Amino acid sequence: MSSNIEAAGSDVFGIESQLSETRLFPPSPAFSGQAHIGSMEQYRTEHARSINDPEGFWGEIAKELHWFKPWDKVLEWDAPDAKWFTGGTTNLSYNCLDRQVKAGRGADTAIIWEGEPVDGANGPEVRHISYAELLEETCKCANALKSLGVAKGDIVTVYMPMVPELAIAMLACARIGAAHSVIFGGFAASAIVDRVVDAKSKVVITADGGWRRGSIVPLKDNVDAACAQTDLVEHVLVVKRTAQDITWDAKRDHWWHDAVDKASDDCPCEEMDSEDLAFVLYTSGTTGKPKGIMHTTGGYMVHTYLTSKLTFDLHSSEPGTPPKQIYWCTADIGWVTGHSYIVYGIMPNCVPTVMYEGAPNFPDSGRFWDMVERHKVTQFYTAPTAIRAFMKWGDEWPQKHDLSSLTVLGTVGEPINPEAWMWYHKMIGAESCPIVDTWWQTETGGQMITPLPGATPTKPGSCTLPFFGVDAAIVNEHGEEMPANTGGLLAIRKPWPGMLRGILGDRERFIETYWSTIRTKEGEPYYKAGDGARRDDDGYFWVMGRIDDVMNISGHRIGTMELESALVSHSAVVEAAVVGVPHEIKGTGIAAFCTLAPGVTADSALRDTLRTHVAKEIGPFAKPDMLRFTDALPKTRSGKIMRRLLKDIASGAEKTGDTTTLEDYSVLAKLKESDEG
Ligand code: ATP
Ligand code: MG
Repeated sequence: MSSNIEAAGSDVFGIESQLSETRLFPPSPAFSGQAHIGSMEQYRTEHARSINDPEGFWGEIAKELHWFKPWDKVLEWDAPDAKWFTGGTTNLSYNCLDRQVKAGRGADTAIIWEGEPVDGANGPEVRHISYAELLEETCKCANALKSLGVAKGDIVTVYMPMVPELAIAMLACARIGAAHSVIFGGFAASAIVDRVVDAKSKVVITADGGWRRGSIVPLKDNVDAACAQTDLVEHVLVVKRTAQDITWDAKRDHWWHDAVDKASDDCPCEEMDSEDLAFVLYTSGTTGKPKGIMHTTGGYMVHTYLTSKLTFDLHSSEPGTPPKQIYWCTADIGWVTGHSYIVYGIMPNCVPTVMYEGAPNFPDSGRFWDMVERHKVTQFYTAPTAIRAFMKWGDEWPQKHDLSSLTVLGTVGEPINPEAWMWYHKMIGAESCPIVDTWWQTETGGQMITPLPGATPTKPGSCTLPFFGVDAAIVNEHGEEMPANTGGLLAIRKPWPGMLRGILGDRERFIETYWSTIRTKEGEPYYKAGDGARRDDDGYFWVMGRIDDVMNISGHRIGTMELESALVSHSAVVEAAVVGVPHEIKGTGIAAFCTLAPGVTADSALRDTLRTHVAKEIGPFAKPDMLRFTDALPKTRSGKIMRRLLKDIASGAEKTGDTTTLEDYSVLAKLKESDEG
């Protein structure tokens, strides 16, 4: 463990400065009345049972899914290595598809897909894909992969737009026991090379292109450029989506519509050992070079199934009848949120999952709300970065649409500023939809701390309480629990089914990053999440930012979240990022970067106003030393603010750290040029 991380980590302790938040939003009796978990009493009883008897609890849940062979033991734990459902065999593809077809749901809708282009009065292209169709396509794709030499244990790289073939490719891999490594379609060739080499992939699945904000993303060109830098790749399977001219290597490239369409639609599932590798997925790269996280089959399946069911309160309809609910997660499948909460957790719950190809502001800023209205979406899951963009685009967009089908709203990816939470609650949820603010990570596989919509009274900005089976705590580096309202390290005490099984090819980084610093009284390692957080008097969790970002200002310890939320609570500010910079007197000074609401003038008067505003909200010591206005903040392609780059800029560093997952390089260039204030 490097010393600077330890030093940064120890800064988290004793965080005492915080915005006060007293608003409480209990679920309506009507919602609670129909929910799987309908009261706090039920939550507490079940949670206690899941912690005291994890094997009994998870064994019971796992029985709701299909296993070819039952497990011998629910859990074997030899820290930091967990094995769940050992001896059991199952298959993710079977539980997403075959199980539904066998239960008479063959004709029911599995995926509602919508393409980005809008064709005048005809509108966008929409496809309703049933479980039977999806199964047939998955079997064909699986057989095509086999004929390209893919076998159990291989890792197939998938670099695709948000088209149904992406889900089909993943399910096909799962079916034959190959793991997939999905790379977000916005990444460039260099990111593909790194990941192909890391995973030793011989087969890549891609498309000629994808639609994004009216233009074509040249996916095949990027794969070609990547293949020019490694001779690992033997076959590239290409979906025709955008139909522009592309270069073609007749030996290596295969059209999907040739290889898949002519393959047999009979492909029995490989019986996967519960601990067989299901997929590798790289983290977002918010805090450094992305990590190739490994997830296995059985535990991941059970964890994502149960969290989907309870967090979104999913209810399937009777087989052969129209769906009662339409679920939509707006994430890209290239991120863990898309893996777990578009595909693997949702399909076993038999509720249609919406998949959208394009941008939220194409052809206009009302696209998402138009889709909610047309598809009658009931559960809607998005990210704080999107919510802040919607706020900036203006209330008129959601107001144009009938959003009354919505029942549950979700958020994930970053802490949500209370201001954005309230906007979501009022403008999208008409003050009647529970908001589930779900804290989790690529590493955790599924949601970890989250409200349950029929039970948990919510507070804007808090992810509330641990999910079943999750023993979360706020501790110091000695593993001692911090008192209420005191910041510390967010840590997990016991194994959970969806937890990572390692970082691909890097055991040392796995141990060092997550398991080496904190131990329980009994000497067992805690899982260290890397986030700083506190619990309030009700035991609710408040994520305060990344451990490395927590600041010590003249002896006051404060998280980035509190400062940013204070800035965003002013009507002039839409989005804010705060970082610590070296300061001669205070040790650390505060640098703030703000994007402003439309029509607001960026001048020194506003700068003074905002500084005073923060002083009033938090305390005079929290006044930003430097405050810059900017059109945009540097973000990862999954939409998270990259504070480490802002830190480099604010402290005048010549070079910035790893930028491979940065969304828009021009943002960084502009920030470097802009004046300090
Ligand atoms: P890297 O690990 O490469 O730095 P990353 O941590 O951004 O990237 P992800 O696994 O995509 O990669 O994101 C997980 C992180 O996102 C969490 O550790 C946390 O900081 C943040 N996060 C996710 N959901 C929430 C939430 N509801 N509230 C607060 N923070 C959240
Ligand atoms: Mg992380």
